[in-house]
Amino acid sequence: MSEFFKDGLARNYVAGDWVDGDEGARISVEDPGLETPVGDCALAGEASLAKALEGARKSFERGDLADMAPAALSRLMQRVANEIRAIADEGAELLCRESGKTLSAAGEEFEEAAQYFEYYGGVADKIEGKSIPLGPDYADYTVYEPFGVSAQIVPWNFPVSIAARSLAPSMAAGNSTIIKSPELDPMALAMLGVALERAEVPKGAVSILNGIGGDLGARLVASSEIDQIVFTGSVPTGQAILRAAADTVTPSLMELGGKSAAVVFEDANLDTVISSLQSGIFYNAGQVCSAMARVLVHRSIYDEAVARAAEMANGLSIGHGLDNPDHTPVASALQLDRVEELTSSAHQDGARIAAGGARLERTGHFMAPTILADVAPISRVAQEEIFGPVTCFTPFDTEAEAIAIANGTEFGLVAGIFTRDLARSHRVARKLRAGQVFVNEWFAGGISTPFGGVGKSGFGREKGLEALFNYVRTKNIAISLKE
Ligand code: NAD
Repeated sequence: MSEFFKDGLARNYVAGDWVDGDEGARISVEDPGLETPVGDCALAGEASLAKALEGARKSFERGDLADMAPAALSRLMQRVANEIRAIADEGAELLCRESGKTLSAAGEEFEEAAQYFEYYGGVADKIEGKSIPLGPDYADYTVYEPFGVSAQIVPWNFPVSIAARSLAPSMAAGNSTIIKSPELDPMALAMLGVALERAEVPKGAVSILNGIGGDLGARLVASSEIDQIVFTGSVPTGQAILRAAADTVTPSLMELGGKSAAVVFEDANLDTVISSLQSGIFYNAGQVCSAMARVLVHRSIYDEAVARAAEMANGLSIGHGLDNPDHTPVASALQLDRVEELTSSAHQDGARIAAGGARLERTGHFMAPTILADVAPISRVAQEEIFGPVTCFTPFDTEAEAIAIANGTEFGLVAGIFTRDLARSHRVARKLRAGQVFVNEWFAGGISTPFGGVGKSGFGREKGLEALFNYVRTKNIAISLKE
């Protein structure tokens, strides 16, 4: 497959060329389900970064994407979507092995990535400005211009679909883009370069660099050669990047973590709640920024809800991602240590373990599907992001109390409401501090619905038409018509 994989090494896609790591640097990528190597990945260094930056700037100055006829840009993006689908089977197997997720979830990532290119390809010729009336002596209008070079830092939980989520609107707006892939699972994302190459995306318009966050990532975001930063990842890394961005005054988009709560009222359909919970906290082993990390349940149905959640968690099939079980390992030994340590603090804080609670004694980085009950809203486990297959149940008595608990963390990514009462669903949705509210189905919505946080969950929006305006800036042109 092109030059992507050579001599046992996945390579960097830099300004249209496949290159090895600078000075032969490479990292070994592990299969978290087997604890065996998947393969090696070349590590980009100073020389690759310089080549990517130069290629991106030159492509932008040539107007490769920004000056392309909008309809042609739409067609180019459709070709990228087609080429992503063409590599999806091979890519999904690689992603499954390097991330630990199920093969079907890995396939969904590639499909979602293709859909981002279709969606934003469909609007590349519809980025329209406004005409502003200033009376007969003036003509005034706005145009949306690309920033220039967009630097995009991607996390490991959904490397392919999150990369596409930012790259597609960036390209549609006419920017050049440099992606820094996550060091835990960079290989399937590097393969996205194959689709870009086959679709004949102009050289330099997109580069994908594999590199260590605190090294290559930090150098990329601190570079004075970039015009925008798009970061998806944890709060501490986002804060470090914002500090670097302050020095160069670089506009930034931050998609950070979450501790999202579902509020389950007494009239909720418990079957719906439990099926939502299964995907909400156990999909991708809970390594989802918008996971259903807290479940607040009206006291009258609380015991029944906890018992049914525990029964569901205990009944999940567990195994390697290639076998498509219900439950898969977390991404690394370090991640498992973090998840287990935070989960174990729950007991000291007075919570009860209704299911799971510790790692599983088997090969692979498996945390047991875990349901914590009677979790105090102010305890560590209810306040900090666990980023694993662990959720926290807490009872409530009144609507006002539920809203206060749901809003009582530093985060505000998504929230959920389960009720049959239409008026209550609208009323509570308005009061929840979150960028997106799901009613009666966790993860409702899709690529066309805006997504992003408030508070420490970040700022700016991805997905939907709304996201496009994070990748352009407005210019006003005011013309005097006076003699
Ligand atoms: P992380 O912050 O550790 O790493 C994210 C990326 O940043 C990686 O590519 C890493 O290499 C890079 N990085 C690390 N230090 C850097 C630095 N100093 N400068 C530049 N880049 C640097 O996050 P993670 O562990 O990969 O991902 C998990 C986190 O991401 C969770 O908090 C999760 O909630 C969040 N997340 C948010 C969203 C969202 O859309 N809001 C989506 C997915 C994940």
